[in-house]
Amino acid sequence: MRTADPERTARAQVPEAQPPAAPRWLLCEGCNRPVYERRFSRDLRVCPECGRYARLSAEERIEQLFDAGSISPVAVAETIEDPLLFTDSRPYVERLRTARRQTGLDDAVVCVRGEIGGHPLVAAVMDFNFLGGSLGCAAGERIAAAADAALLDGVPFLVVTASGGARMQEGALSLMQLAKTTQALVALHRAGILTISVITDPTYGGVAASFATQTDVILAERGARLGFAGPRVIMQTIRQQLPAGFQTAEFLFEHGLIDEVVPRPALRPTLARLLAAAAPAAPGDDPLRAVPSGVVRQLDDVPERDPWDVMRLAREVGRPTTLDYAGRLLDGFVELHGDRLSDDCTAIVGGIGRFAGRPVMLIGHQKGHTAQELRERNYGMSTPAGYRKAGRLMQLAARLGLPIITLVDTQGAYPGLEAEREGQAWAIAENLRLMAHLPVPIVAVVTGEGGSGGALALALADRVLVLENSVYSVISPEACGAILWNDASTAPQAARALRIEPRELLRHRIADGVIPEPEGGAHNDHAAAADLLRRALYDVLAEIVDLDGERLVAERAARFGAFGTRPPVAQQKGGQE
Ligand SMILES: [Zn+2]
Repeated sequence: MRTADPERTARAQVPEAQPPAAPRWLLCEGCNRPVYERRFSRDLRVCPECGRYARLSAEERIEQLFDAGSISPVAVAETIEDPLLFTDSRPYVERLRTARRQTGLDDAVVCVRGEIGGHPLVAAVMDFNFLGGSLGCAAGERIAAAADAALLDGVPFLVVTASGGARMQEGALSLMQLAKTTQALVALHRAGILTISVITDPTYGGVAASFATQTDVILAERGARLGFAGPRVIMQTIRQQLPAGFQTAEFLFEHGLIDEVVPRPALRPTLARLLAAAAPAAPGDDPLRAVPSGVVRQLDDVPERDPWDVMRLAREVGRPTTLDYAGRLLDGFVELHGDRLSDDCTAIVGGIGRFAGRPVMLIGHQKGHTAQELRERNYGMSTPAGYRKAGRLMQLAARLGLPIITLVDTQGAYPGLEAEREGQAWAIAENLRLMAHLPVPIVAVVTGEGGSGGALALALADRVLVLENSVYSVISPEACGAILWNDASTAPQAARALRIEPRELLRHRIADGVIPEPEGGAHNDHAAAADLLRRALYDVLAEIVDLDGERLVAERAARFGAFGTRPPVAQQKGGQE
Protein backbone atom coordinates (compact mmCIF):
# COMPACT_ATOMS: atom_id res chain seq x y z
CA MET A 1 0.00 0.00 0.00
CA ARG A 2 1.15 3.52 -0.72
CA THR A 3 1.97 5.71 2.25
CA ALA A 4 -1.19 7.33 3.55
CA ASP A 5 -1.80 10.98 2.79
CA PRO A 6 -1.16 12.83 6.12
CA GLU A 7 -4.03 15.25 5.50
CA ARG A 8 -6.40 12.42 4.90
CA THR A 9 -5.13 10.63 8.02
CA ALA A 10 -5.57 13.78 10.04
CA ARG A 11 -9.11 14.16 8.77
CA ALA A 12 -9.94 10.53 9.31
CA GLN A 13 -8.86 10.66 12.93
CA VAL A 14 -11.67 13.09 13.73
CA PRO A 15 -15.12 11.59 13.12
CA GLU A 16 -17.41 13.86 11.08
CA ALA A 17 -20.17 13.86 13.69
CA GLN A 18 -18.00 15.23 16.50
CA PRO A 19 -18.56 18.97 17.09
CA PRO A 20 -15.50 21.03 16.16
CA ALA A 21 -14.25 21.88 19.62
CA ALA A 22 -10.67 23.09 19.22
CA PRO A 23 -9.24 24.50 15.98
CA ARG A 24 -7.57 21.74 14.00
CA TRP A 25 -4.22 22.20 12.35
CA LEU A 26 -2.61 20.34 9.48
CA LEU A 27 0.95 20.36 8.25
CA CYS A 28 1.34 21.44 4.62
CA GLU A 29 3.26 18.80 2.67
CA GLY A 30 4.88 21.51 0.60
CA CYS A 31 6.27 23.94 3.18
CA ASN A 32 5.72 21.91 6.35
CA ARG A 33 4.01 24.88 7.98
CA PRO A 34 0.87 24.43 10.05
CA VAL A 35 -2.38 25.38 8.34
CA TYR A 36 -5.67 25.92 10.12
CA GLU A 37 -7.87 23.22 8.71
CA ARG A 38 -11.06 25.21 8.30
CA ARG A 39 -9.21 27.89 6.36
CA PHE A 40 -7.45 25.21 4.33
CA SER A 41 -10.81 23.73 3.39
CA ARG A 42 -12.29 27.15 2.59
CA ASP A 43 -9.27 27.84 0.36
CA LEU A 44 -10.05 24.66 -1.62
CA ARG A 45 -7.10 22.90 0.06
CA VAL A 46 -4.56 25.29 -1.39
CA CYS A 47 -1.82 26.12 1.15
CA PRO A 48 -2.08 29.81 2.11
CA GLU A 49 1.66 29.85 2.83
CA CYS A 50 3.27 28.21 -0.20
CA GLY A 51 0.35 27.84 -2.64
CA ARG A 52 0.70 24.06 -2.88
CA TYR A 53 -2.37 22.20 -4.09
CA ALA A 54 -3.15 19.34 -1.72
CA ARG A 55 -4.56 16.26 -3.40
CA LEU A 56 -8.35 16.12 -3.27
CA SER A 57 -10.58 13.12 -2.78
CA ALA A 58 -13.35 12.65 -5.35
CA GLU A 59 -15.83 13.80 -2.73
CA GLU A 60 -13.90 17.01 -2.06
CA ARG A 61 -13.52 17.65 -5.77
CA ILE A 62 -17.23 17.23 -6.39
CA GLU A 63 -18.03 19.55 -3.51
CA GLN A 64 -15.68 22.19 -4.91
CA LEU A 65 -16.98 22.02 -8.48
CA PHE A 66 -20.72 21.43 -8.27
CA ASP A 67 -23.59 23.64 -7.17
CA ALA A 68 -24.50 22.85 -3.57
CA GLY A 69 -27.34 20.36 -3.29
CA SER A 70 -27.42 19.53 -7.01
CA ILE A 71 -25.74 16.13 -6.82
CA SER A 72 -27.26 12.70 -7.30
CA PRO A 73 -25.49 9.39 -7.91
CA VAL A 74 -25.38 7.58 -11.25
CA ALA A 75 -26.27 3.89 -11.17
CA VAL A 76 -23.38 1.62 -12.08
CA ALA A 77 -23.51 -2.07 -13.04
CA GLU A 78 -21.65 -4.61 -10.92
CA THR A 79 -18.26 -5.67 -12.23
CA ILE A 80 -16.07 -8.71 -11.69
CA GLU A 81 -13.49 -8.52 -8.94
CA ASP A 82 -9.97 -9.93 -9.00
CA PRO A 83 -10.42 -11.75 -12.32
CA LEU A 84 -6.82 -13.09 -12.27
CA LEU A 85 -6.74 -14.09 -8.55
CA PHE A 86 -3.71 -11.81 -8.49
CA THR A 87 -1.12 -11.85 -5.73
CA ASP A 88 2.17 -10.06 -5.31
CA SER A 89 3.44 -9.40 -1.80
CA ARG A 90 -0.23 -9.32 -0.80
CA PRO A 91 -3.36 -10.67 -2.46
CA TYR A 92 -5.13 -8.06 -4.63
CA VAL A 93 -8.42 -8.66 -2.81
CA GLU A 94 -6.74 -7.59 0.42
CA ARG A 95 -5.45 -4.40 -1.20
CA LEU A 96 -8.96 -3.70 -2.45
CA ARG A 97 -10.40 -4.21 1.02
CA THR A 98 -7.85 -1.83 2.55
CA ALA A 99 -8.46 0.82 -0.12
CA ARG A 100 -12.21 0.60 0.43
CA ARG A 101 -11.84 0.92 4.18
CA GLN A 102 -9.49 3.90 3.89
CA THR A 103 -11.44 5.83 1.26
CA GLY A 104 -15.01 4.79 1.89
CA LEU A 105 -15.28 4.19 -1.88
CA ASP A 106 -16.03 1.04 -3.89
CA ASP A 107 -13.42 1.93 -6.48
CA ALA A 108 -11.41 4.79 -7.96
CA VAL A 109 -14.23 6.62 -9.78
CA VAL A 110 -17.30 8.42 -8.44
CA CYS A 111 -20.14 9.20 -10.90
CA VAL A 112 -22.68 11.94 -10.33
CA ARG A 113 -25.38 13.94 -12.01
CA GLY A 114 -25.36 17.56 -10.95
CA GLU A 115 -25.14 21.19 -11.96
CA ILE A 116 -22.33 23.71 -12.31
CA GLY A 117 -23.46 27.32 -12.46
CA GLY A 118 -27.00 26.04 -13.01
CA HIS A 119 -26.00 23.96 -16.05
CA PRO A 120 -26.78 20.23 -15.77
CA LEU A 121 -24.08 17.69 -16.58
CA VAL A 122 -22.86 14.21 -15.68
CA ALA A 123 -19.39 13.73 -14.23
CA ALA A 124 -17.00 10.89 -13.52
CA VAL A 125 -14.46 11.93 -10.90
CA MET A 126 -11.36 9.87 -10.19
CA ASP A 127 -9.88 9.47 -6.72
CA PHE A 128 -6.12 8.95 -6.56
CA ASN A 129 -6.41 7.78 -2.98
CA PHE A 130 -8.02 4.58 -4.20
CA LEU A 131 -5.08 2.44 -5.44
CA GLY A 132 -3.51 5.40 -7.23
CA GLY A 133 -6.64 6.08 -9.27
CA SER A 134 -5.76 3.01 -11.30
CA LEU A 135 -8.05 2.01 -14.14
CA GLY A 136 -9.47 -1.47 -13.72
CA CYS A 137 -12.79 -3.05 -14.65
CA ALA A 138 -14.79 -1.20 -11.99
CA ALA A 139 -13.29 2.20 -12.79
CA GLY A 140 -13.74 1.65 -16.53
CA GLU A 141 -17.36 0.64 -16.03
CA ARG A 142 -17.98 3.77 -13.97
CA ILE A 143 -16.50 6.06 -16.64
CA ALA A 144 -18.62 4.33 -19.28
CA ALA A 145 -21.74 4.44 -17.10
CA ALA A 146 -21.34 8.18 -16.51
CA ALA A 147 -20.86 8.76 -20.25
CA ASP A 148 -23.98 6.68 -20.95
CA ALA A 149 -25.93 8.75 -18.42
CA ALA A 150 -24.80 11.96 -20.17
CA LEU A 151 -25.93 10.48 -23.48
CA LEU A 152 -29.29 9.52 -22.01
CA ASP A 153 -29.81 12.95 -20.42
CA GLY A 154 -28.38 14.80 -23.43
CA VAL A 155 -26.12 16.89 -21.19
CA PRO A 156 -22.36 17.56 -21.21
CA PHE A 157 -19.97 14.98 -19.81
CA LEU A 158 -17.14 15.92 -17.47
CA VAL A 159 -14.31 13.66 -16.41
CA VAL A 160 -11.92 14.68 -13.65
CA THR A 161 -8.82 12.55 -13.91
CA ALA A 162 -6.19 11.48 -11.35
CA SER A 163 -4.49 8.22 -12.11
CA GLY A 164 -1.20 6.40 -12.29
CA GLY A 165 -2.51 4.33 -15.22
CA ALA A 166 -4.07 0.95 -15.81
CA ARG A 167 -4.47 -1.42 -12.83
CA MET A 168 -1.79 -4.10 -13.17
CA GLN A 169 -3.64 -6.48 -10.85
CA GLU A 170 -6.40 -6.94 -13.44
CA GLY A 171 -4.00 -7.65 -16.29
CA ALA A 172 -5.14 -7.23 -19.88
CA LEU A 173 -8.71 -6.69 -18.69
CA SER A 174 -7.46 -3.32 -17.42
CA LEU A 175 -5.97 -2.55 -20.79
CA MET A 176 -9.35 -3.28 -22.38
CA GLN A 177 -10.86 -0.46 -20.29
CA LEU A 178 -9.07 2.00 -22.58
CA ALA A 179 -11.07 0.62 -25.49
CA LYS A 180 -14.28 0.40 -23.51
CA THR A 181 -14.14 3.99 -22.26
CA THR A 182 -13.15 5.17 -25.74
CA GLN A 183 -16.33 3.68 -27.15
CA ALA A 184 -18.40 5.45 -24.52
CA LEU A 185 -16.73 8.76 -25.46
CA VAL A 186 -17.26 8.11 -29.17
CA ALA A 187 -20.98 7.63 -28.56
CA LEU A 188 -21.06 11.11 -27.00
CA HIS A 189 -19.08 12.60 -29.88
CA ARG A 190 -21.45 11.09 -32.41
CA ALA A 191 -24.44 12.43 -30.51
CA GLY A 192 -22.97 15.96 -30.51
CA ILE A 193 -22.58 16.12 -26.74
CA LEU A 194 -19.86 18.33 -25.30
CA THR A 195 -17.17 16.43 -23.38
CA ILE A 196 -14.71 18.09 -21.01
CA SER A 197 -11.69 16.82 -19.07
CA VAL A 198 -10.28 18.38 -15.96
CA ILE A 199 -6.79 16.95 -15.61
CA THR A 200 -5.49 16.85 -12.05
CA ASP A 201 -2.16 15.71 -10.72
CA PRO A 202 -1.08 13.13 -11.68
CA THR A 203 -2.70 11.65 -14.81
CA TYR A 204 -0.61 9.00 -16.53
CA GLY A 205 -0.61 5.86 -18.63
CA GLY A 206 -3.83 4.32 -19.87
CA VAL A 207 -6.05 7.08 -18.51
CA ALA A 208 -3.97 9.73 -20.28
CA ALA A 209 -4.02 7.62 -23.43
CA SER A 210 -7.81 7.29 -23.51
CA PHE A 211 -10.70 9.32 -22.11
CA ALA A 212 -8.57 12.00 -20.41
CA THR A 213 -7.37 13.32 -23.77
CA GLN A 214 -10.29 12.28 -26.01
CA THR A 215 -12.58 15.06 -24.85
CA ASP A 216 -13.52 18.19 -26.78
CA VAL A 217 -12.02 20.54 -24.21
CA ILE A 218 -9.08 19.67 -21.97
CA LEU A 219 -8.57 21.85 -18.91
CA ALA A 220 -5.69 21.08 -16.57
CA GLU A 221 -5.33 22.22 -13.00
CA ARG A 222 -2.26 24.39 -12.53
CA GLY A 223 0.87 22.27 -12.13
CA ALA A 224 -0.90 18.99 -12.88
CA ARG A 225 1.26 16.42 -14.67
CA LEU A 226 -0.18 14.56 -17.65
CA GLY A 227 1.61 12.10 -19.87
CA PHE A 228 1.89 8.53 -21.05
CA ALA A 229 5.23 7.46 -19.59
CA GLY A 230 6.26 9.12 -16.34
CA PRO A 231 9.67 10.82 -15.95
CA ARG A 232 11.07 7.92 -13.93
CA VAL A 233 10.17 5.40 -16.63
CA ILE A 234 11.70 7.61 -19.32
CA MET A 235 14.92 8.15 -17.40
CA GLN A 236 15.23 4.48 -16.48
CA THR A 237 14.52 3.11 -19.93
CA ILE A 238 16.19 5.53 -22.32
CA ARG A 239 18.17 7.71 -19.86
CA GLN A 240 16.95 10.93 -21.42
CA GLN A 241 17.41 14.25 -19.62
CA LEU A 242 14.05 15.96 -19.25
CA PRO A 243 13.44 19.73 -19.36
CA ALA A 244 12.20 21.64 -16.32
CA GLY A 245 8.43 21.52 -15.93
CA PHE A 246 8.24 18.46 -18.20
CA GLN A 247 4.66 17.13 -18.52
CA THR A 248 3.18 19.87 -16.35
CA ALA A 249 -0.01 21.60 -17.43
CA GLU A 250 2.01 24.69 -18.34
CA PHE A 251 4.43 22.67 -20.50
CA LEU A 252 1.54 20.92 -22.25
CA PHE A 253 -0.24 24.20 -22.90
CA GLU A 254 2.86 25.62 -24.53
CA HIS A 255 2.99 22.59 -26.78
CA GLY A 256 -0.62 22.83 -27.87
CA LEU A 257 -1.79 19.68 -26.09
CA ILE A 258 -4.42 21.17 -23.78
CA ASP A 259 -6.88 24.05 -23.99
CA GLU A 260 -6.14 25.87 -20.77
CA VAL A 261 -4.22 25.81 -17.50
CA VAL A 262 -6.63 26.69 -14.72
CA PRO A 263 -5.80 27.57 -11.10
CA ARG A 264 -7.91 25.55 -8.67
CA PRO A 265 -10.11 28.48 -7.56
CA ALA A 266 -10.91 29.27 -11.21
CA LEU A 267 -11.96 25.72 -12.16
CA ARG A 268 -15.59 26.03 -11.17
CA PRO A 269 -16.15 29.45 -12.81
CA THR A 270 -14.27 28.30 -15.92
CA LEU A 271 -16.46 25.21 -16.24
CA ALA A 272 -19.56 27.32 -15.65
CA ARG A 273 -18.54 29.76 -18.42
CA LEU A 274 -17.79 26.96 -20.84
CA LEU A 275 -21.10 25.21 -20.15
CA ALA A 276 -22.94 28.53 -20.49
CA ALA A 277 -21.24 29.33 -23.80
CA ALA A 278 -22.02 25.93 -25.31
CA ALA A 279 -25.58 25.54 -23.98
CA PRO A 280 -28.21 25.08 -26.71
CA ALA A 281 -30.30 28.08 -27.75
CA ALA A 282 -33.42 28.56 -25.68
CA PRO A 283 -36.60 28.16 -27.74
CA GLY A 284 -38.49 31.35 -28.44
CA ASP A 285 -37.91 34.50 -30.45
CA ASP A 286 -35.02 34.31 -32.84
CA PRO A 287 -33.19 37.62 -32.77
CA LEU A 288 -31.62 36.86 -36.16
CA ARG A 289 -34.88 37.89 -37.86
CA ALA A 290 -35.26 41.26 -36.23
CA VAL A 291 -32.30 43.43 -37.22
CA PRO A 292 -32.01 45.50 -40.41
CA SER A 293 -28.67 44.93 -42.09
CA GLY A 294 -26.33 47.43 -43.63
CA VAL A 295 -24.67 44.91 -45.92
CA VAL A 296 -24.16 46.33 -49.42
CA ARG A 297 -24.87 43.70 -52.05
CA GLN A 298 -25.33 45.79 -55.21
CA LEU A 299 -22.29 46.75 -57.22
CA ASP A 300 -23.72 50.20 -57.95
CA ASP A 301 -23.85 50.93 -54.23
CA VAL A 302 -20.10 50.43 -53.77
CA PRO A 303 -18.06 53.48 -54.77
CA GLU A 304 -14.96 53.15 -56.92
CA ARG A 305 -11.76 53.69 -54.92
CA ASP A 306 -8.05 53.39 -55.44
CA PRO A 307 -7.15 49.84 -54.28
CA TRP A 308 -3.93 51.11 -52.75
CA ASP A 309 -5.86 53.53 -50.50
CA VAL A 310 -8.06 50.62 -49.39
CA MET A 311 -4.96 48.49 -48.80
CA ARG A 312 -3.41 51.10 -46.53
CA LEU A 313 -6.59 51.35 -44.46
CA ALA A 314 -6.85 47.54 -44.32
CA ARG A 315 -3.40 47.49 -42.72
CA GLU A 316 -4.17 50.24 -40.21
CA VAL A 317 -2.82 48.92 -36.93
CA GLY A 318 -5.73 50.33 -34.91
CA ARG A 319 -8.34 48.20 -36.67
CA PRO A 320 -10.28 45.86 -34.39
CA THR A 321 -8.72 42.40 -34.11
CA THR A 322 -10.57 39.09 -33.82
CA LEU A 323 -10.33 39.25 -30.01
CA ASP A 324 -11.65 42.84 -30.06
CA TYR A 325 -14.65 41.66 -32.08
CA ALA A 326 -15.07 38.56 -29.89
CA GLY A 327 -15.40 40.76 -26.83
CA ARG A 328 -17.96 43.01 -28.49
CA LEU A 329 -19.98 40.55 -30.61
CA LEU A 330 -20.22 37.52 -28.36
CA ASP A 331 -21.52 36.90 -24.88
CA GLY A 332 -19.24 34.82 -22.67
CA PHE A 333 -16.56 34.03 -25.25
CA VAL A 334 -14.35 31.15 -24.06
CA GLU A 335 -11.09 30.88 -25.98
CA LEU A 336 -9.80 27.39 -26.72
CA HIS A 337 -6.18 26.63 -27.41
CA GLY A 338 -3.81 24.22 -29.08
CA ASP A 339 -3.65 21.94 -32.09
CA ARG A 340 -3.39 18.83 -29.83
CA LEU A 341 -0.10 18.05 -31.52
CA SER A 342 2.68 20.60 -31.29
CA ASP A 343 1.85 24.20 -30.47
CA ASP A 344 -0.69 26.87 -29.72
CA CYS A 345 -0.17 29.37 -32.55
CA THR A 346 -1.10 32.84 -31.29
CA ALA A 347 -1.71 34.21 -34.80
CA ILE A 348 -5.04 32.38 -34.94
CA VAL A 349 -7.54 32.45 -32.07
CA GLY A 350 -10.81 30.65 -31.63
CA GLY A 351 -13.45 29.65 -29.16
CA ILE A 352 -17.11 29.33 -28.28
CA GLY A 353 -19.40 32.22 -27.42
CA ARG A 354 -23.03 33.19 -27.77
CA PHE A 355 -24.24 35.19 -30.73
CA ALA A 356 -27.91 36.10 -31.06
CA GLY A 357 -28.75 33.75 -28.20
CA ARG A 358 -27.11 30.69 -29.71
CA PRO A 359 -23.66 29.12 -29.33
CA VAL A 360 -21.25 29.75 -32.22
CA MET A 361 -17.62 28.96 -32.95
CA LEU A 362 -15.58 32.06 -33.72
CA ILE A 363 -12.16 31.62 -35.35
CA GLY A 364 -9.93 34.32 -36.74
CA HIS A 365 -6.47 35.64 -37.41
CA GLN A 366 -5.16 37.74 -34.57
CA LYS A 367 -2.94 40.78 -35.07
CA GLY A 368 -2.32 43.48 -32.45
CA HIS A 369 -2.27 47.19 -31.89
CA THR A 370 1.31 47.68 -30.69
CA ALA A 371 4.69 46.54 -31.95
CA GLN A 372 4.92 44.10 -29.06
CA GLU A 373 1.43 42.68 -29.59
CA LEU A 374 2.15 42.27 -33.28
CA ARG A 375 5.38 40.42 -32.53
CA GLU A 376 3.66 38.18 -30.00
CA ARG A 377 0.98 37.36 -32.59
CA ASN A 378 3.53 36.84 -35.38
CA TYR A 379 1.84 39.72 -37.27
CA GLY A 380 -1.23 37.55 -37.78
CA MET A 381 0.75 35.08 -39.90
CA SER A 382 -0.20 31.59 -38.76
CA THR A 383 2.04 28.56 -38.54
CA PRO A 384 0.70 25.11 -39.46
CA ALA A 385 -0.25 24.69 -35.79
CA GLY A 386 -2.61 27.66 -36.11
CA TYR A 387 -4.40 26.13 -39.07
CA ARG A 388 -4.57 22.79 -37.29
CA LYS A 389 -6.08 24.50 -34.25
CA ALA A 390 -8.63 26.19 -36.50
CA GLY A 391 -9.38 22.82 -38.09
CA ARG A 392 -9.84 21.19 -34.70
CA LEU A 393 -12.27 23.90 -33.61
CA MET A 394 -14.21 23.64 -36.89
CA GLN A 395 -14.58 19.89 -36.37
CA LEU A 396 -15.75 20.53 -32.82
CA ALA A 397 -18.31 23.04 -34.14
CA ALA A 398 -19.51 20.44 -36.64
CA ARG A 399 -19.89 17.81 -33.90
CA LEU A 400 -21.82 20.18 -31.66
CA GLY A 401 -23.85 21.63 -34.55
CA LEU A 402 -22.58 25.19 -34.05
CA PRO A 403 -22.46 27.78 -36.84
CA ILE A 404 -18.90 28.92 -37.58
CA ILE A 405 -17.90 32.56 -37.99
CA THR A 406 -14.38 33.24 -39.24
CA LEU A 407 -12.64 36.61 -39.31
CA VAL A 408 -9.83 36.86 -41.85
CA ASP A 409 -7.00 39.33 -41.43
CA THR A 410 -3.58 38.12 -42.52
CA GLN A 411 -0.87 39.03 -45.00
CA GLY A 412 -0.62 35.30 -45.53
CA ALA A 413 0.47 32.09 -43.88
CA TYR A 414 3.85 32.35 -42.16
CA PRO A 415 6.69 31.66 -44.59
CA GLY A 416 9.69 30.06 -42.91
CA LEU A 417 11.81 26.99 -42.39
CA GLU A 418 9.88 25.70 -39.38
CA ALA A 419 6.51 26.30 -40.98
CA GLU A 420 7.57 24.43 -44.10
CA ARG A 421 9.04 21.57 -42.12
CA GLU A 422 5.83 21.27 -40.13
CA GLY A 423 3.76 21.13 -43.30
CA GLN A 424 2.26 24.56 -43.94
CA ALA A 425 0.87 23.51 -47.30
CA TRP A 426 -0.61 20.34 -45.81
CA ALA A 427 -2.23 22.27 -42.96
CA ILE A 428 -3.88 24.77 -45.32
CA ALA A 429 -4.93 22.02 -47.71
CA GLU A 430 -6.47 20.06 -44.86
CA ASN A 431 -8.54 23.04 -43.74
CA LEU A 432 -9.81 23.60 -47.27
CA ARG A 433 -10.82 19.94 -47.50
CA LEU A 434 -12.46 20.12 -44.10
CA MET A 435 -14.41 23.31 -44.83
CA ALA A 436 -15.61 21.88 -48.13
CA HIS A 437 -17.69 19.29 -46.30
CA LEU A 438 -18.52 20.67 -42.84
CA PRO A 439 -22.27 20.23 -42.34
CA VAL A 440 -22.74 23.48 -40.38
CA PRO A 441 -23.25 27.08 -41.58
CA ILE A 442 -19.98 28.98 -42.16
CA VAL A 443 -19.71 32.74 -42.56
CA ALA A 444 -16.31 34.25 -43.35
CA VAL A 445 -15.62 37.96 -43.04
CA VAL A 446 -12.45 39.59 -44.34
CA THR A 447 -11.88 42.28 -41.72
CA GLY A 448 -8.54 43.59 -43.00
CA GLU A 449 -6.08 41.77 -45.20
CA GLY A 450 -7.20 38.63 -46.97
CA GLY A 451 -3.82 37.32 -48.00
CA SER A 452 -3.70 34.29 -50.24
CA GLY A 453 -4.04 30.66 -49.13
CA GLY A 454 -3.49 31.67 -45.53
CA ALA A 455 -6.73 33.64 -45.74
CA LEU A 456 -8.75 31.13 -47.77
CA ALA A 457 -7.84 28.44 -45.21
CA LEU A 458 -10.44 30.13 -42.99
CA ALA A 459 -12.78 31.31 -45.73
CA LEU A 460 -14.19 28.41 -47.74
CA ALA A 461 -17.58 29.48 -46.46
CA ASP A 462 -21.30 29.59 -47.30
CA ARG A 463 -21.22 33.39 -47.19
CA VAL A 464 -18.17 35.58 -47.61
CA LEU A 465 -18.35 39.23 -46.62
CA VAL A 466 -15.68 41.89 -46.78
CA LEU A 467 -15.39 45.05 -44.74
CA GLU A 468 -15.44 48.34 -46.60
CA ASN A 469 -11.72 48.86 -46.01
CA SER A 470 -10.47 45.35 -46.59
CA VAL A 471 -8.75 43.56 -49.44
CA TYR A 472 -8.56 39.99 -50.67
CA SER A 473 -5.78 38.89 -52.94
CA VAL A 474 -3.84 35.95 -54.28
CA ILE A 475 -0.56 37.67 -53.36
CA SER A 476 0.52 40.84 -51.56
CA PRO A 477 0.96 43.83 -53.90
CA GLU A 478 4.59 44.12 -52.74
CA ALA A 479 5.38 40.52 -53.66
CA CYS A 480 3.51 40.81 -56.94
CA GLY A 481 5.41 44.00 -57.79
CA ALA A 482 8.70 42.38 -56.91
CA ILE A 483 7.99 39.37 -59.11
CA LEU A 484 6.36 40.96 -62.15
CA TRP A 485 7.97 44.43 -62.16
CA ASN A 486 11.20 43.43 -60.40
CA ASP A 487 10.51 46.25 -57.94
CA ALA A 488 8.60 46.11 -54.63
CA SER A 489 7.93 49.86 -54.81
CA THR A 490 5.47 49.17 -57.62
CA ALA A 491 3.04 47.83 -54.98
CA PRO A 492 0.36 50.51 -55.62
CA GLN A 493 0.47 49.66 -59.31
CA ALA A 494 0.26 45.96 -58.50
CA ALA A 495 -2.68 46.56 -56.14
CA ARG A 496 -4.59 48.23 -58.96
CA ALA A 497 -3.75 45.45 -61.39
CA LEU A 498 -4.75 42.72 -58.93
CA ARG A 499 -8.19 44.32 -58.27
CA ILE A 500 -8.11 43.56 -54.57
CA GLU A 501 -10.72 46.04 -53.28
CA PRO A 502 -14.32 45.34 -52.19
CA ARG A 503 -16.00 46.63 -55.33
CA GLU A 504 -14.04 44.23 -57.52
CA LEU A 505 -14.51 41.38 -55.03
CA LEU A 506 -18.26 41.93 -55.18
CA ARG A 507 -18.22 42.11 -58.99
CA HIS A 508 -16.55 38.71 -59.22
CA ARG A 509 -18.71 37.29 -56.42
CA ILE A 510 -15.61 36.52 -54.37
CA ALA A 511 -17.59 38.47 -51.77
CA ASP A 512 -21.35 38.26 -51.29
CA GLY A 513 -21.54 41.67 -49.68
CA VAL A 514 -19.63 44.63 -48.33
CA ILE A 515 -19.98 45.67 -44.70
CA PRO A 516 -19.82 49.43 -44.13
CA GLU A 517 -17.38 50.85 -41.59
CA PRO A 518 -17.61 53.90 -39.33
CA GLU A 519 -16.50 57.25 -40.78
CA GLY A 520 -12.81 57.12 -41.68
CA GLY A 521 -12.44 53.40 -40.95
CA ALA A 522 -13.07 50.71 -38.31
CA HIS A 523 -10.04 51.85 -36.28
CA ASN A 524 -11.84 55.12 -35.46
CA ASP A 525 -14.70 53.47 -33.57
CA HIS A 526 -14.45 49.81 -32.54
CA ALA A 527 -17.92 49.78 -31.00
CA ALA A 528 -19.58 51.09 -34.15
CA ALA A 529 -17.51 48.75 -36.34
CA ALA A 530 -18.55 45.77 -34.22
CA ASP A 531 -22.20 46.83 -34.39
CA LEU A 532 -22.08 47.01 -38.19
CA LEU A 533 -20.45 43.58 -38.30
CA ARG A 534 -23.08 42.22 -35.91
CA ARG A 535 -25.91 43.40 -38.16
CA ALA A 536 -24.22 41.90 -41.19
CA LEU A 537 -23.77 38.56 -39.44
CA TYR A 538 -27.42 38.56 -38.36
CA ASP A 539 -28.38 39.13 -41.96
CA VAL A 540 -26.32 36.38 -43.57
CA LEU A 541 -26.73 33.85 -40.75
CA ALA A 542 -30.50 34.20 -40.99
CA GLU A 543 -30.23 33.02 -44.62
CA ILE A 544 -28.37 29.81 -43.85
CA VAL A 545 -28.75 28.90 -40.19
CA ASP A 546 -31.76 26.63 -40.70
CA LEU A 547 -30.46 24.81 -43.79
CA ASP A 548 -29.54 21.17 -43.27
CA GLY A 549 -25.95 20.02 -43.59
CA GLU A 550 -26.37 18.32 -46.94
CA ARG A 551 -27.82 21.41 -48.57
CA LEU A 552 -25.14 23.65 -47.05
CA VAL A 553 -22.39 21.44 -48.43
CA ALA A 554 -24.05 21.25 -51.87
CA GLU A 555 -24.55 25.01 -52.11
CA ARG A 556 -21.02 25.66 -50.88
CA ALA A 557 -19.72 23.34 -53.59
CA ALA A 558 -21.79 25.22 -56.18
CA ARG A 559 -20.55 28.59 -54.92
CA PHE A 560 -16.88 27.73 -55.27
CA GLY A 561 -17.36 25.41 -58.22
CA ALA A 562 -18.68 28.30 -60.32
CA PHE A 563 -15.57 30.45 -60.12
CA GLY A 564 -14.04 30.91 -63.52
CA THR A 565 -17.08 29.70 -65.43
CA ARG A 566 -19.89 32.00 -64.32
CA PRO A 567 -19.94 35.45 -65.93
CA PRO A 568 -19.35 38.30 -63.46
CA VAL A 569 -22.51 39.75 -61.97
CA ALA A 570 -22.22 43.03 -63.91
CA GLN A 571 -22.44 41.15 -67.20
CA GLN A 572 -25.34 39.06 -65.94
CA LYS A 573 -27.23 42.29 -65.33
CA GLY A 574 -26.57 43.60 -68.80
CA GLY A 575 -23.29 45.37 -68.20
CA GLN A 576 -23.51 48.24 -65.74
CA GLU A 577 -19.80 48.89 -66.17
ZN1 LIG B 1 2.53 25.07 2.19
